[in-house]
Amino acid sequence: MKTLKKYLLPIIMLAVFETIAVVLWLVNDKIFYLFNFSYIGCSIALGIFLFIREFKYARHVTQLLVGLYMLIYLGLISNENMQIEGFWYNLFTGVFEAATIHYAVAKIAGPLLFGRGWCGFACWTAMVMDFLPYKTPKAPRKKLGFIRYITFAVSLIFVACLFLTHVGNLEKIMFWSFLIGNILYYASGIILAFVFKDNRAFCKYVCPITVFLKPMSYFSLLRIKCDKSKCVSCGKCEKVCPMNVKITDNSRKRENSTECILCMECIKACPKGALPAGKTSAKSENENITN
Ligand code: SF4
Ligand code: SF4
Ligand code: SF4
Repeated sequence: MKTLKKYLLPIIMLAVFETIAVVLWLVNDKIFYLFNFSYIGCSIALGIFLFIREFKYARHVTQLLVGLYMLIYLGLISNENMQIEGFWYNLFTGVFEAATIHYAVAKIAGPLLFGRGWCGFACWTAMVMDFLPYKTPKAPRKKLGFIRYITFAVSLIFVACLFLTHVGNLEKIMFWSFLIGNILYYASGIILAFVFKDNRAFCKYVCPITVFLKPMSYFSLLRIKCDKSKCVSCGKCEKVCPMNVKITDNSRKRENSTECILCMECIKACPKGALPAGKTSAKSENENITN
């Protein structure tokens, strides 16, 4: 019973993704969905399992398993544009497949359950940035979050223009936009990391997907909570946080609340075991979720 409780989170995550896999397989009559979401569920469950077993690179294992699969297999081999442009493209064509399903599960509905777990465990952009030297920010956070709305609007306008101007070869254009978009993401992510001495600067200021992720993750069922009875206010958790979250404040209004990527670094750093992941209700708390 104790072992079951210890490994409850990976079991739940596996069950959630298996349910999605089976439902999408049956609804769409495509075995691909069974394989796709089972693989992602197993990868995520494995990462959490390894984290519980205190394996140092647990999160990177999942990042590489999911990130490389989505970038190389789905994106480059299967020609599915899994970036935000692919999502707009499918939305405009009325297709509920690939990118639309990916966004619905990982970035719009999913964050209500597991917050920004996508950003901590699966994103193929962060998969690379997390290997850069600035794991914890070496400078205070900048007020540059407005950039994400510009990149969000640019991606939408770009795809809208393709439809409005009736250009041909849309599928080829989407493939190249996936390729060029990823190169731009990696290049700007790496440059920003070195300029701001912060691996996650791209996530904090530029990534358009956070326009979906931040408001949805505000209501997340799964979030890190501080057990005040154990906390000795040593500040070690906040020092290692890559996203500048005021983690010892349990309110949803806490500083940078919607920035938590569930990377678990704070849990590892806490000498008192005061930071278990917990379930909470949103209650009536209000927050500026666009910080
Ligand atoms: S903020 Fe964007 S780039 Fe960063 S991990 Fe999340 S989805 Fe990836
Ligand atoms: S609060 Fe903890 S889990 Fe969330 S981003 Fe910071 S270190 Fe990671
Ligand atoms: S590391 Fe643990 S004990 Fe120290 S401030 Fe954070 S929660 Fe409290």
